[in-house]
Amino acid sequence: MKTFAALVAVCALTLTHPAQAALRHDRLWTAAQAEAPKALETLKALVNIETPSREVGGMAELGDLLAGRLTDLGAQVEKIPAIAPAHGSVIVGRFTGTGQAKILLIAHMDTIYPAGSLAKRPFKIEGGRAYGPGIADDKSGVTVILHSLAALKTQGFCRYGQLTVMFNTDEEQTSVFSGKIVTDLAGKADVVMSFEPSTVGLEIIPRAAAGNGETRVIVTGRAAHAGAEPERGRNALVEAADIVLKTRDLDDPAKGFRFNWTQMTSGTIRNQIPDQAVISADTRHMSKAVLDDKLAQLAERLKMPLVPDTTARVDYRPGRPGYVADPPSNALIDKAVAIYNEVGGALTPVPAMTASSDAGYAQVSGKPVIEGFGLPGYGYHSSEEEYVDLTRMAPRIYLTARMIMELSGR
Ligand SMILES: [Zn+2]
Repeated sequence: MKTFAALVAVCALTLTHPAQAALRHDRLWTAAQAEAPKALETLKALVNIETPSREVGGMAELGDLLAGRLTDLGAQVEKIPAIAPAHGSVIVGRFTGTGQAKILLIAHMDTIYPAGSLAKRPFKIEGGRAYGPGIADDKSGVTVILHSLAALKTQGFCRYGQLTVMFNTDEEQTSVFSGKIVTDLAGKADVVMSFEPSTVGLEIIPRAAAGNGETRVIVTGRAAHAGAEPERGRNALVEAADIVLKTRDLDDPAKGFRFNWTQMTSGTIRNQIPDQAVISADTRHMSKAVLDDKLAQLAERLKMPLVPDTTARVDYRPGRPGYVADPPSNALIDKAVAIYNEVGGALTPVPAMTASSDAGYAQVSGKPVIEGFGLPGYGYHSSEEEYVDLTRMAPRIYLTARMIMELSGR
């Protein structure tokens, strides 16, 4: 309710006071607008380097490019080589200023798109939108960071104490390698801003993000010749298929719990009844209690197999921790809403997003964390064409740069 009141107050100001524009930092707004076309060029360059999480060459190329950009902006750059299954290097840039505040900005270099996706869906601009694999998630986040810093540089702004930028390469692999680095860097900062994309139209800013994990069910049956004596076999694949069908309803968005089967492996050869199958469900939760309850329900349902004599066991592998904005983080969200409004933008805080993000790893540090500072985008993690709303480029650069100014104190 507090937020709602704050929103109303800001909106009222907008509607009734022509002097509202005076709140705007005009020189910074001019700088942000000047950065926007350059940021579009950066976005294009980033999209044109394909960086699926396991693409070694592309990841190295992008890492070099970003390290160079940060150096040009005045940062001391450190490259932390990733360990498999992550690839490339985590890029950390540190800017030393004249003040006290320690601010961490994070975004990721990897995308979910396999190599070759760019050839099928090359970068293009159409009607105020730019399209390309990974353009929103999260090349827009990387771009907004770089050009917000460039805008601040044009203002000669360095009132922060230390500004740290981190780009990782395994966010789409639940940050298996870099999660700890995110937590450590956050621990050394006073505040963390995360640059996952927002949403087009209604630009949301989340007050929580789900924790995630992988639920595996391993089914064991009995192998037999599929043509000569299939009756002697116990088909693990058939049992796994039945488990998939009878557990789909565990997915429960109303409780902030997402449970969706996404992978199945079974069988080594066509002419043998398979004795093993492994199925895997993408699993996201807002509440540990709900997660535990759902996993218990899953285990219960495995006790009555369709295929006699098969057994199945659950193996839950926790991934990224969840994120819930604490009071200091919520205050920063309210500040972001107000700042965006200075340039006519509207951010809408939402209670939660079921996507997970590195905000969760950052929050393990106990520091205030805010999420969603990339560009408004659409189609990420879907089979639809991914795009970003280019009309928001300048306002988003302004938002981040002004947040850094505010966080740096007077
Ligand atoms: Zn992302």
